[in-house]
Amino acid sequence: MAEKRDYYEVLGVDKSADASTIKKAYYKLAKQYHPDANPGDAAAEEKFKEANEAYEVLSDSDKRAKYDQFGHAAFDPSMGGGDGGFGGFGGFGDFGDLGDILGGMFGGAFGGGRQRRNGPIPGDDIGANVTITFEEAAFGVKKDISYNRICRCPDCKGSGGENVETCTVCRGTGQVRRVQRMGGMSFQSTAQCDACRGTGKIIKNPCNKCRGTGQTRESKRLTVSIPAGIDHGERIALRGQGNDGRNGGPAGDLIIVVSVRSHSIFEREDYNIYCEVPLTVAEATLGAEIDVPTLEGNVKYTIPEGTQAGTTFTLRGKGIPYVNGNGKRGDLIFRTTVEIPKGLSEKQKEAMRAFAESCGEGNYTKHKQFFKKIFGK
Ligand SMILES: [Zn+2]
Ligand SMILES: [Zn+2]
Repeated sequence: MAEKRDYYEVLGVDKSADASTIKKAYYKLAKQYHPDANPGDAAAEEKFKEANEAYEVLSDSDKRAKYDQFGHAAFDPSMGGGDGGFGGFGGFGDFGDLGDILGGMFGGAFGGGRQRRNGPIPGDDIGANVTITFEEAAFGVKKDISYNRICRCPDCKGSGGENVETCTVCRGTGQVRRVQRMGGMSFQSTAQCDACRGTGKIIKNPCNKCRGTGQTRESKRLTVSIPAGIDHGERIALRGQGNDGRNGGPAGDLIIVVSVRSHSIFEREDYNIYCEVPLTVAEATLGAEIDVPTLEGNVKYTIPEGTQAGTTFTLRGKGIPYVNGNGKRGDLIFRTTVEIPKGLSEKQKEAMRAFAESCGEGNYTKHKQFFKKIFGK
């Protein structure tokens, strides 16, 4: 037995790789070495098993932590024999993700497909949408959601009924062989057994509630913890909250897609937030202590004398918290506009004219330079 390869090396990822990088790397390998894509290729099958094993550990944060600390020894002796098949770590519990991924690649042929209806079939994932406010996205929130899922029939406990017998036509395999002869040659193919519709079982007394399918629908309520810092369009997967599997297959996941409502003042880009703050001519000219809105109420900020429209100021750490960032936050960046006063009284206009006359060219450098460029003096 050759030395066991490092799981990170198997997947070709860095030790610090995040969950999505690991998933992507695994997906690529699983696709490349999947037995359906490499029929009869023992080397490919080994690679496939190796990738599965690595992914089963690295996709689970607890197992990954153990692995990082102890290496392969963390899982000996169960894995020491090099058997490395599925279920070495947690039975079929780890099959779910794999079934989903491969189901998506091979049209459901893996695990849930036509050929293997009598084996464990993982349940499908369910998608759900949750809409939250800008502030809820920033600081996290718990949301109640309700959704419908396919579950194991409570009346027959998923058996489909009583007096379940093995199908005599296919001997429980769910498949029958057909031989066709054409011009002296014979072709053999496998097809789903009609007698048991591929399940391998005949139910003499089908359950009334589920009509022998072993599954019914239920509506479920769940409280979802949405982490601080989540952004519009991001997903949260709740493992095992999707549809129940069949024949001992694991449940799918509930995939929650988060929509974030826009804010009346702020715009978000990654973890920074942006807004505009209008200044009066006097504030911009003389400098002032102004109120700047933040996600946690207004704060005082002193802008300097002679602040132009379009100047940006940064409040460090007043943006959006990083997801799982241990308190690290983006910035709040505000940009000034200057509002020109309207509807002045005659007296105010008089004062403005007097002020304007008192100004020399030195008070308006851009204005001066602009006309110099046009008129050359
Ligand atoms: Zn039932
Ligand atoms: Zn059958």
